[in-house]
Amino acid sequence: MCLCVYLCICVCVYALLSVCAFVCVVCLIGIYLSFPLSPTSFCLIFINNEWHDSVSGKVFSTYNPTTGEKICDVQEADKADVDKAVQAARSAFSLGSVWRKMDASERGKLLFKLADLVERDSAYLATLESLDTGKPFLSSFFVDLQGIIKTFRYFAGWADKIHGSTIPTDGEYFTLTRHEPIGVCGQIVPWNFPLVMTAWKLGPALSCGNTVVLKPAEQTPLTCLYIGALIKEAGFPPGVVNILPGYGPTAGAAIASHMGIDKVAFTGSTEVGKLIQEAAGKSNLKRVTLELGGKSPNIIFADADFELAVEQAHQGVFFNNGQCCTAGSRIFVEEPIYDEFVRRSVERARRRTVGNPFDPTIEQGPQVSAEQQSRVLELIQSGITEGAKLECGGKAPPSKGFFVEPTVFSDVQDHMRIAKEEIFGPVQQIMKFKTIEEVIERANDTEYGLAAAVFTTDLNKAMTVSAALQAGTVWINCYNALSCQCPFGGFKMSGNGRELGEIGLKEYTEVKTITMKMSGKKS
Ligand code: ADP
Repeated sequence: MCLCVYLCICVCVYALLSVCAFVCVVCLIGIYLSFPLSPTSFCLIFINNEWHDSVSGKVFSTYNPTTGEKICDVQEADKADVDKAVQAARSAFSLGSVWRKMDASERGKLLFKLADLVERDSAYLATLESLDTGKPFLSSFFVDLQGIIKTFRYFAGWADKIHGSTIPTDGEYFTLTRHEPIGVCGQIVPWNFPLVMTAWKLGPALSCGNTVVLKPAEQTPLTCLYIGALIKEAGFPPGVVNILPGYGPTAGAAIASHMGIDKVAFTGSTEVGKLIQEAAGKSNLKRVTLELGGKSPNIIFADADFELAVEQAHQGVFFNNGQCCTAGSRIFVEEPIYDEFVRRSVERARRRTVGNPFDPTIEQGPQVSAEQQSRVLELIQSGITEGAKLECGGKAPPSKGFFVEPTVFSDVQDHMRIAKEEIFGPVQQIMKFKTIEEVIERANDTEYGLAAAVFTTDLNKAMTVSAALQAGTVWINCYNALSCQCPFGGFKMSGNGRELGEIGLKEYTEVKTITMKMSGKKS
């Protein structure tokens, strides 16, 4: 009897979820098709608040990773278009321009308006983001879009609160500092969080009064371009924000080496980060902030809340289809709980639902491209070849989309490629440790230093380990708990500078020291 009731409930829940999934897909497609702007109406280059064809006449295609089918063609910007955009941004930044004369509080109002418009169109933006990236719609809507709106509002609030200090200078002088905008900022955005990274970059740049030439990743240009339409609608003056879809080695490289750009902010691979820094050094020594790769350690002590640690370790690596620079992909588990932790992690990964990002019951969509899928599968193969134990997953399920099964490796050794290289896919590495000294040394034995986590109920241990870890962010008993109020960035080869928070804001200012003689007497 009990079993019958249980089965009935299961069938009902399953039916309800299936109906919900169907209704959700139909609604989303409805929203997507009925919206006034179809992708083809904004797949152009956005300069001076107008839509342009590329100077070369070239276009490139963007694809739906769930089906492998083309979504649409996009105008392809390269050096000539970057020159046009820089000219527009320079002119918008010139002394006496509307933007330079605008009160800081008015700049804040424009950013608040932008946040309101993103909120108004959030269902459409989340749909477009999931279509172009393959990330689960519910995650696009509830995580990415809500974070983006908060980020714009956070930096909107800062606009009229960016002030310097007065300094007790020696002698008969009065000194004050001003935090001024840097000028034209080049911003290069990756494909794993196209809109989130756009907000992290546009928010502080505009709050401080800079102008922007922004390039989205070639795999995922759509939502970023749509923001161009909202920038215009919000009322930003022409030339303040310019958006150029295009490839890295052409449009991206032109931004990094442009003599008319004063700062470049980049999020992406460490390999390309080095090229950007080199290009800045070889051109005009533009300011550079870099948010690069990671191979973050997640340390689980035997005294941790076990259920919490298993789930957070799972989410910490599999979130966003495993495509996060913060992914906690090296999981160090203390010896007494190691076997049980592996068993439970494998059980959890096997339960992870993979499929169409618009199905609300799925947790994982496809990788962003066939290239990324191949790279992840190649690294999985290297793990098998080097002797790690493949506990589950490891393959691409039969589909036209770029899916990879949730994969767990145990018995991973520190020297293996899967323990050293950033995989950027749904692949979890679990290692064993015995002592606190040993785990700190092994956790820090990496060229990266973006994030780390520690799970323990011992406060002393938590603070000792978090102080010793070489990482820009350390989470205690949680993972990926990011917020727009807190600085984010990397130690070592995970980058330079910080984004978000007051520190991230200051990365978009130059400090000017003004000293005035107070007395007419000769010194
Ligand atoms: P991934 O390897 O994950 O695709 P990349 O670092 O290659 O990450 O890309 C991140 C961003 O950097 C994208 O917008 C890409 O177009 C851009 N990019 C790639 N190569 C260069 C380059 N040589 N110069 C400037 N930008 C580049």
